[in-house]
Amino acid sequence: MGTLFKNGTIVTASDMVKADVLVEGEKIVLIGQDIPTQGHEVVPCDGKYLMPGGIDVHTHLDLAFGGTYSNDDFDTGHKAAAFGGTTMHIDFAMQPKGGKLHDALDIWREKAKPAQIDYSFHIGVTDLRDEVLEEIPTLIDEGVTSLKLFMAYKNVFQIDDKTLYLAMSQAAKHGMMVMVHAENGDVEEQLRKQLLAAGKTDPVDHYSSRPPEIEGEATNRAAVLSGLTNCRLYVVHVTCEPAVEAIRRARELGYPVMGETCVQYFYVTRDKHLGAPGFEGAKYVCSPPVRNEEHHAVLWQAVKDGTLQAVSTDHCDFWYEGGVGPVQEWAKAHNGGDWTAYEAQDPSYRRPGKELGKGDFSKIPNGMPGIEDRMMVMWHLGVNSGKISPSRFVELNSTNPAKIFGCYPQKGTIAVGTDADILVWDPNASHTISASTHHMKTDYNVYEGMTVKGVPQQVYLRGKRLVNGNLWLGKNGEGKFVHRKPNAPIL
Ligand SMILES: [Zn+2]
Repeated sequence: MGTLFKNGTIVTASDMVKADVLVEGEKIVLIGQDIPTQGHEVVPCDGKYLMPGGIDVHTHLDLAFGGTYSNDDFDTGHKAAAFGGTTMHIDFAMQPKGGKLHDALDIWREKAKPAQIDYSFHIGVTDLRDEVLEEIPTLIDEGVTSLKLFMAYKNVFQIDDKTLYLAMSQAAKHGMMVMVHAENGDVEEQLRKQLLAAGKTDPVDHYSSRPPEIEGEATNRAAVLSGLTNCRLYVVHVTCEPAVEAIRRARELGYPVMGETCVQYFYVTRDKHLGAPGFEGAKYVCSPPVRNEEHHAVLWQAVKDGTLQAVSTDHCDFWYEGGVGPVQEWAKAHNGGDWTAYEAQDPSYRRPGKELGKGDFSKIPNGMPGIEDRMMVMWHLGVNSGKISPSRFVELNSTNPAKIFGCYPQKGTIAVGTDADILVWDPNASHTISASTHHMKTDYNVYEGMTVKGVPQQVYLRGKRLVNGNLWLGKNGEGKFVHRKPNAPIL
């Protein structure tokens, strides 16, 4: 007995076709017209789209950052992702300073134990000693084929050009991918110090410390090194015209350069959001910063013409009002102020969040929620407005992420033999996004009040239904690690 999705319109990156889809076990086994229903559980899909589950290749679950940890973990973050139609994500496992790359894997494998959707890891390289350089190709056996290096976050994650060059040379030899956070961290440090010294401490001043020029410069530097080393390069969270132009030029020169943007960079603005009165703008502090509409238009053009190949979230959520409650006193008394120990005792405790940066924008934890919203907001802003087709939507949010990161066609499409990660998408249903109803573990939503048309009504992971309307049917431990392959195509 299988599950038969009846009379839906299948949307893939290349086609839209009305057909039935039969799933047996974890796989799609048959696609065709008028498949007999006998012996199968039937899911009526009239008027619905059948799309591959979303893949978010840029998330930070349970990440230590800026004196706290991002809120969502591999339990809450997975549930939120699935409610939004995302059935796989790739998280950044960060190398501990002085440690090995495999240490990062060990730590993140432990974090991922409660998994409810499928996942994989990129390794964030923070300390490239000689033995670590040699360790890089051994990650392939573990199913990890992508490295991330930070050209920003001075004295935290930032690497220098020599390190980037060495890592790219090594990755290129083994068909692996290098991803970069492209901002010039040395210049950022200077700008930040000048701003703070001048008393410019508000959330919006974060923008002035990270202008488009430092993103464009770093993007170009990485892109040229990609051409020099012939290393696959994927520029994460591209936000602005100078960065898009650097990628466009590199691609015209034939360099193996690709890039993504994140859904918030199409919508959230410096003026209205980051520049909101009081401390409100802290909700929207992330790096690189959100830009104004003229850059949004550049990003739409870039995802339309293929200069950028994917859309992710950079999901990294913090409380707007964290560190809340009388527990602070308790924590001081019992753990020397160590909230991590206290939190284990009282799950209602809110760990520190954005409020850490009151009076100093540089202390605001960087990041925002989005793992649940990405698909619905992209559909609403992109497809409903006619900017992108349903097929391009699938390509940007699922197919290209799977191809670029070496797990296609197991993931990222609807075809016979692939994992049955299926969304029953209702293009006519509406939903108003709000922190009061979302599943992410945070007290605000970037798209608060936005009514989107087009929602994932049912969500299947490898043939098992995780979401049915508002109902959660997933289980901890059912999400699996996705073993990825090197030598993925350059799109
Ligand atoms: Zn990130």
